[in-house]
Parts: sequence; structure tokens; C-alpha cells
Amino acid sequence: ATSGIKKAGEANIAVSVRVRPLNRQEEVDGRKAVVKAEPLKNILVQRIQGAVNPSNREVQERFSFNSTFGPETSQEDLYNSVARPLVIETLHGYNSTIFCYGQTGTGKTFTMEGVDFNNWVHSSGEGILPESAGLIPRAVDDIFKHINESGVESTVRISHLEIYNEKLQDLLAPLDNAPEPKIFNGKGKDHMLISGLEEFVVKDTAEVLRFLKVSLEKRTTAQTGANERSSRSHCIFSLTVHMKETLADGDDVLKVGKLYLVDLAGSESATVSSHTQETRNINTSLLTLGKVIKELNEHHRHVSYRESKLTRLLQESLGGKAKTAMVATVAPTDAAVDQTLNTLRYAQQAM
Ligand code: ADP
Ligand code: MG
Repeated sequence: ATSGIKKAGEANIAVSVRVRPLNRQEEVDGRKAVVKAEPLKNILVQRIQGAVNPSNREVQERFSFNSTFGPETSQEDLYNSVARPLVIETLHGYNSTIFCYGQTGTGKTFTMEGVDFNNWVHSSGEGILPESAGLIPRAVDDIFKHINESGVESTVRISHLEIYNEKLQDLLAPLDNAPEPKIFNGKGKDHMLISGLEEFVVKDTAEVLRFLKVSLEKRTTAQTGANERSSRSHCIFSLTVHMKETLADGDDVLKVGKLYLVDLAGSESATVSSHTQETRNINTSLLTLGKVIKELNEHHRHVSYRESKLTRLLQESLGGKAKTAMVATVAPTDAAVDQTLNTLRYAQQAM
């Protein structure tokens, strides 16, 4: 659906774009920001098409999204507009998924985790998050805050895994050579089971931060040669909340909500021509994700969840009653403009 206008309640996917600031090197090099978040939820891309267009005329393209965030946007503001509504869904017992999609170096991990993650995991207590904390720690903190305030009997579980080369790796497995987790189809139509994936019960934000440090180390040591692994793998953090509520008549009801936070492989992987099985596999997951979202938006009876590990895994949290938020991250510079346009088009397709 490219009309951009949907009936209330129909739009289960919200697509936003975040433009990162120029970094120090880009400033030193005198680069200009040619990608701008404008009012009215637009993204403006300005480019000089010298070669194509001898007059050196500036070409402008405008895209419109559910929300857009410029370089000045704080981590807290981004959390409040993009993730908070889905965290509330989780606490009501629904499933949801938040993705970061974009070229390597545009701020996916910054948005999902935050910066200098390792430096602030040592803190403890409530309200411990620094300004730089990203969506995962903020979602965790918010969930504990709500649970503590409401007094509802709850259990929070987390897992963290990576899909690299269409293989799953448990980032929280205590053993280094843990067997690969496997995805099985359960009884119900959309039901999916996963075996061999550790899920840990956690009681506060500080504990989650310590787990995240473990998975971060695992990812870093698993890095391969020149091609940074994080740019080629999908990293999936899950948060499951079991809540026991006692109704007025004394009956107990159990609600389960699940939130996936996904730092996708660099989107450049989906556009380079694929010479190796590895790049083909990265393609598969990113392209299948785009296809699945399109099929859901168009209400297809058959949705291609089974065509990649990523979409199989997320099946219960994509479509149906589940809510999805996509944050497309882009660089502001002219040098990256082709990749930026690819990202904006992919994001536009998801609406
Ligand atoms: P990706 O995960 O998409 O490859 P990163 O999150 O690692 O990209 O970001 C690349 C660099 O840009 C990092 O140094 C990061 O701290 C910085 N960065 C990204 N987004 C922002 C932002 N919105 N504000 C400030 N710095 C950012
Ligand atoms: Mg990253």
C-alpha cells in the first residue's frame, strides 16, 4: 500500500526514519548534510547530479513516513515515540517487533543498544540509564518500572541470538560450543518453537545489562577478518513477560507478551550482487522480511514466513495482532546517497 493512508487500526506497522548527525571525520572533510528530516514527517534528499546532468542542477526527492527523526533527536525522544507504544502492547499481552534497518555505519546499533555500552553496565538501581542508552535498555527499564508500579505478579525472560549465514547462534549460551538452536513448527498455524536457546529470568535492568555485556563480547570475539560480522548478521533480542492478574471475581488470568528488538544486517548486503552463499543468505533474510511485510500489508492469505530463518523466528510477532515498528537509519552525506535512497525505498515499501 503506497497510499500512506490507512483506516484506524489497520496500520500494524509504523515506519520511521532516523538521520544520524555528521560524524567528526565527515565534518573535517567538509561534507554537507544532504539528507534532512523535515516537518510533516518527510525526508528530503538533495543531490547534485553533475555527471547525469551537465547543468549541475540540484535534484530533490521527498519521502514521507509515519515519523522522522533528525540528527538532534535524543535517544529518549526516539524511545518515547517508536518503542514505548509497543512496550505498552507487551504489558497488555501482545507480541511486537522493532527493527533497525539500514546501511552499516548509519546508527542501527546506536539506536538499538546505545553507545559505550560497556562503560555503563556497571551501574545498578533504578533510573540508571545514561542519556546515550538505546531502545533495548530503555524498553527493559520501562517494563520493570511498570511491573513494579502495578504490582502485577510478573516474570521477565530474555534471550539474545544472532542469525549469521542462515545459522542461529545463542549469544547468551554459557558454553562456547553450544549446539545450534533449532526452529520447529508447533501445533497452531503460526506457532513456532525454538529448542536449544537459553532464556534467562531477569529481575532488574542492571541484570539485563550484565547479560547484554556477555552477548556483546560473544559477538565481538566471533568477528571475522575484514568483514565485520555485525554488518552481516541479524541480532535478535527478545523480552517475554508473563503476568498473572487476579480479576475481581478472584479468577487468575495469565497474559504473555513478547517484544523482539532486531538489529538487522547492513542493508548494503541486500543490494550488492551476491557472489557467495554468505551474501545470498543475508539477501534472503532481508528480502524475505520486506516481502513478508508487503504480504501482510496487502492481506495475503499466504505469507512467506518460511522462506528465511529471520521471518520464521519472528512469525508470531509479525502480522495478526502483533505490532511492528521499523526504524530505517540513514547517513546524512552525499557520499552515501545511493544507499540512503535504497533504504528509503525499502522503508517506503513497508508502509
Ligand atoms: P550500524 O550499527 O548501523 O553499523 P552504528 O550504530 O555502529 O551503525 O553507528 C556508527 C557510528 O555513528 C557510531 O560511532 C555511532 O556512535 C555513531 N552514531 C550513529 N547514530 C548516531 C546518532 N544518532 N547520534 C550520534 N552518533 C551516532
Ligand atoms: Mg551495528
